[in-house]
Amino acid sequence: MRGITVTVEAQRMQSSSEDNNTSGSYGWCSWHRAFSNTVRLVVAIEQGSGPGHSLFACSNCRGIYRLVPLADQP
Ligand SMILES: [Zn+2]
Repeated sequence: MRGITVTVEAQRMQSSSEDNNTSGSYGWCSWHRAFSNTVRLVVAIEQGSGPGHSLFACSNCRGIYRLVPLADQP
């Protein structure tokens, strides 16, 4: 069995021209574990020390998992 080569660069090429419908930015989606250009911050985990870390989800995964971006929460 050969190792699987993940072609992240190929996905970056697919950034669509004008998709104003989905607001978001390019980044790592922690849910489907790939880069997307529609990610938004949905969870910011506070840790005891240090800056903690944030989790981003793309528009697709936000729909699947019913995630609400932090900016849109009350
Ligand atoms: Zn995703």
